[in-house]
Amino acid sequence: MIRHALLYGLTFVFAAVAFASSGRAADLTIAPDIERRLAQFARTDMRADISALSAEDRAVLKDLLRAAALMDEIFYRQVSSENAALREQLKSLAGPLAEPARQYFEVNKGPWDRLDGNQPFLGTKAKPPGAGFYPEDMSKQEFENWVKAYPERRDAMTSFTTVIGRTPERRPDIVAYSKAYHEWLAPAAEALRAAAAKTSNASLKKFLTLRADAFLSDDYFASDMAWMDLDAPVEVTIGPYESYEDDLFGYKASYEAYVTVALPKESAALSAFKNELPWLERNLPIPEEHKNLKRGTDSPIRVVDIVATSGDGNRGVQSIAYNLPNDERVRQAKGSKKVMLRNIMRAKYDQILVPIAGEVLSPADAKRLSWDAYFNEVLHHELGHGLGPGTITKDGQPTEVRLELKDLYSALEEAKADVMGVYDILALIEKGVMPKALLEALEPTYVAGLFRSARFGVHEAHGQGVVAQFNYLMKKGAIVQGVGDAKGKYRTDSSKFAGGIKDLLHDMLMLEATGDYEGTKKFLETYGQASPEMLQAFERLKKLPVDIRPVYAQAAELAK
Ligand code: ZN
Repeated sequence: MIRHALLYGLTFVFAAVAFASSGRAADLTIAPDIERRLAQFARTDMRADISALSAEDRAVLKDLLRAAALMDEIFYRQVSSENAALREQLKSLAGPLAEPARQYFEVNKGPWDRLDGNQPFLGTKAKPPGAGFYPEDMSKQEFENWVKAYPERRDAMTSFTTVIGRTPERRPDIVAYSKAYHEWLAPAAEALRAAAAKTSNASLKKFLTLRADAFLSDDYFASDMAWMDLDAPVEVTIGPYESYEDDLFGYKASYEAYVTVALPKESAALSAFKNELPWLERNLPIPEEHKNLKRGTDSPIRVVDIVATSGDGNRGVQSIAYNLPNDERVRQAKGSKKVMLRNIMRAKYDQILVPIAGEVLSPADAKRLSWDAYFNEVLHHELGHGLGPGTITKDGQPTEVRLELKDLYSALEEAKADVMGVYDILALIEKGVMPKALLEALEPTYVAGLFRSARFGVHEAHGQGVVAQFNYLMKKGAIVQGVGDAKGKYRTDSSKFAGGIKDLLHDMLMLEATGDYEGTKKFLETYGQASPEMLQAFERLKKLPVDIRPVYAQAAELAK
């Protein structure tokens, strides 16, 4: 099989040369293992529950899908100025590796493999750190020199909605997004206005109208504020948001869109949990003085189904939730909103978590896995971020956990939220708020989830935080090695599980409550090393997909 693939790779070296000699540029050499790379993403037909939508909602949806598709066009160009031409050339590429290469190009939104540190899988060119936002050969130094030389243009240069070019005289050429991407933003604004005209929902009408204005003015503040107040059967998150694609400075925001439908039943269940938050805070296994009884709980959480995603919202590994907006002024005034994507979560559960459980859990434990438990664990992970110490006192001074734990904060905070999720579900079952039926699935679903998270890297802080949960619970006897036909696999011991979770949560919360950087470091070092057995289990997981690749056939139907 490998030889076979290599042979095709060679064929394409020749194809690339042919292109070059015809003067049409671009090296189209395809990585010989392109099929393996593509298989890391399980192709999944993604559908939303649209049964409750009215004719009006469907008409609105159609316009929103039109606007969303345009975000893809912009994002391709933000990733690389050569992407558009490359995509054209790929269309006519022939040979057995051409189709997987085209599909992988779509997954990665460009020729660089996002699961492989952005190494090229098509051609040999390295990805410019400034993506398509700056001149390709621009260094940090040159940009910083410009900022010093033209202080009056500093805000424009560091703005999250400008593209940076260079004039022939080597001076900055700053172009606002509204101009640079006008070809796509103008029709997107028109589509949002068309949707605004059709909807009878006032909050949606307001957001769409203001966001259409923002596409043409680059001023997103008013529409970000309106987005926080959205409450409609059909919603959209659309615009320039995250700045991860800009590896040079992290200034420039990428366009993306999430077209969603609300899930009233799930949202009602969520509000019921939110009412329990003060009780859950009092229930934490730490001394009273460390409980955060005054913490506000006003940041909304929504559960939705995705109809379609695009741009930065649909590349590489898919998000199961997002927390927006990023504008601090909006966060100060209104907080932020967390949106959880139920059907994406469900796809990952079916395609990734269930197969992982089959590899790492004893057959009896693997059988107990449930979607309901997984969904609730993710939900209570998110709610868990809002519980426990936030603002603390250290050496008599007020400070924040985040500031004290610095680079280790997010690893500990993520692990805390995982464990708190399980702890809170156990407590709510006991209280009679959640059904007893969840109990059986809770433990194995949580353990399988640890393996899923740790796959993304056991050697960096986040992976250590995941491995630490596992090792701590092993030490407490809450997770044990399987025997007999479950050799090399794991199961939970229910008589010790709840106690282990409580102790683990206590230890992590106390590290946060005391802002103990050294203690956190020691905790992660002590428990964060994967054992040889665990590493063997990771080895077995290599054959399973890493993530999903959504195909939005339902959206294509709805857009007609
Ligand atoms: Zn989290």
